[in-house]
Amino acid sequence: MQNNLTFLFYALWCAMMMTLTSCKPNANVDEKVADLILYNAYIYPVTGDPIPNGAIVIHGGKIVTLGPTQEILKIWESRSGETRDCSGAFLMPGFIEGHGHFSGLGENLMQLDLLATKSWQEIVDSVAVRAQKSNPGEWIIGRGWHQEKWMTPVENNVNGYPKHDLLSAVSSQHPVMLFHASGHALFANMAAMEAAGITKETPDPSGGRILRDGAGNSIGVFEENAMNLIWKVYQEIDDKLPAEERVNRWYQAISLAQSHCLSYGITSFQDAGSTFEEIERYQSLAEQDSLNLRLWVMLRKPYDEIKDHMDGFPIIRAGKDLFTCRAIKAAMDGALGSYGAWLLEPYTDNPGFVGQNTTSIEEIDLMAQLAMNKGMQMCVHAIGDRGNREVINVYEKEIKAHPEKQDLRWRIEHAQHLNPADMPRFKQLGIIASMQGIHCTSDAPFVVKRLGEKRSSEGAYAWRSLLDLGVIIANGTDAPVERVDPIPNYYASVTRKRLDNGQEFYHEQAMTREEALYSYTLGNAFAGFEEDIKGSLEPGKWADLVLLSQNLLTCPEDSIPETSVLLTMMGGAIRYEKNR
Ligand SMILES: [Zn+2]
Repeated sequence: MQNNLTFLFYALWCAMMMTLTSCKPNANVDEKVADLILYNAYIYPVTGDPIPNGAIVIHGGKIVTLGPTQEILKIWESRSGETRDCSGAFLMPGFIEGHGHFSGLGENLMQLDLLATKSWQEIVDSVAVRAQKSNPGEWIIGRGWHQEKWMTPVENNVNGYPKHDLLSAVSSQHPVMLFHASGHALFANMAAMEAAGITKETPDPSGGRILRDGAGNSIGVFEENAMNLIWKVYQEIDDKLPAEERVNRWYQAISLAQSHCLSYGITSFQDAGSTFEEIERYQSLAEQDSLNLRLWVMLRKPYDEIKDHMDGFPIIRAGKDLFTCRAIKAAMDGALGSYGAWLLEPYTDNPGFVGQNTTSIEEIDLMAQLAMNKGMQMCVHAIGDRGNREVINVYEKEIKAHPEKQDLRWRIEHAQHLNPADMPRFKQLGIIASMQGIHCTSDAPFVVKRLGEKRSSEGAYAWRSLLDLGVIIANGTDAPVERVDPIPNYYASVTRKRLDNGQEFYHEQAMTREEALYSYTLGNAFAGFEEDIKGSLEPGKWADLVLLSQNLLTCPEDSIPETSVLLTMMGGAIRYEKNR
């Protein structure tokens, strides 16, 4: 019986498919052959010249053709389902985030964003709103507050900080943990302190401080290592949550990250490190056509945990080119700010100390061999000049051992501080420098302190030197370390100026506007072997594009930060539109 039924369904399915396929070509001949024309736009295709008053024809999610508006409309207007006037706006390929942390970004978005808060009262109010919307006992987590930004002074303050009373009063049923913008302190309410068993008697842990009032009671502020007293309680509770709840939260985070990126004109995201479980989930989302942006992901796990589990890798272009995992991520060193970057010579402001090697060279070499065997890319985090040199040495050894393998496109993530002698090696070995424009200006206040004038001027975020050598630079934000918004990153890439105080960091290493746009589109596509399907506006490529409020090539430099996204399209579908 079941077999008969199966056969019946199969026969019906075949009949249906035959009708569909046999009808389709005929229908296309006299019906519309384009889905949409965007016209009257300043088109910057990235490859080829800009088209000042241009139009682009889209069908089946892909670009059919583009050219001057008049010519395109004459041929295509009657053959298209829809036309849309762009009123002179700037049309370019969708931004490709070149190095970020997708689920981390989503998790961040689930927390209270306190970056823009201008008073303690404003923070208390936003916690109160969140408390009303959440179940009793649920933790409220926020980040980004900074007491120096408060416009109204705090009464009865301790070292400029308020006491927790107001905060605790609006959140008695919810433990609250609010991280300082620096990440080096947190504010806890009474419920959180009770959960952590904090009393007058709790001592300051080594390397940390609990701020106290005159009577010795905690005011709610926990600095440095003292943050762990609160954080570990949250972590323990979180670890005990049913797996299903955590998985649901992950999906929620992914969906938030996705719409957030689309609202900033990002149509593809290169994720700098996911687990096997995450990769599996992304792949099935892609296969169900349930991703609204394209993901390109690096697998991040220690060598021992991946060496016997690489069946099925690489995963290339799952779904409609929605998901790829063809890279392995590792880290050679730490970051400059915390003296983790591994240097050839000691830190200028920490004599005798050269930083940290965080994964052994032997392990990174084993991973490189694995990547070579599997036909995958290597993406190693390196910030210091020693860290970078060691990664290049490993790459060189493996590349020379396999002359039969060409065009590997192995990457160094960050490539921040380079010894000039190593720069030509990027070009010689075809290594991609995967850099973050905005890190340059964010770090500007402390780079010279750490490295001194010579190393800073010769090798810090040395975009110009690398580009002049013909090295491909991929560009990104490392979100959620920085905001994922491409516009401030583009501004930093072309000006090397901070937005808040105008401080400029070795302007001679800036990118031109064309170079910066290339690094954020076709450069990133190339860095993931995807330049044949996206990264520029060319016939046959996906219609992944963004419409911006002003011309990023010609607008005055100071006005770049005011640029806004009017529309984001991925695969021919509008995924974001301003004021809709
Ligand atoms: Zn990162």
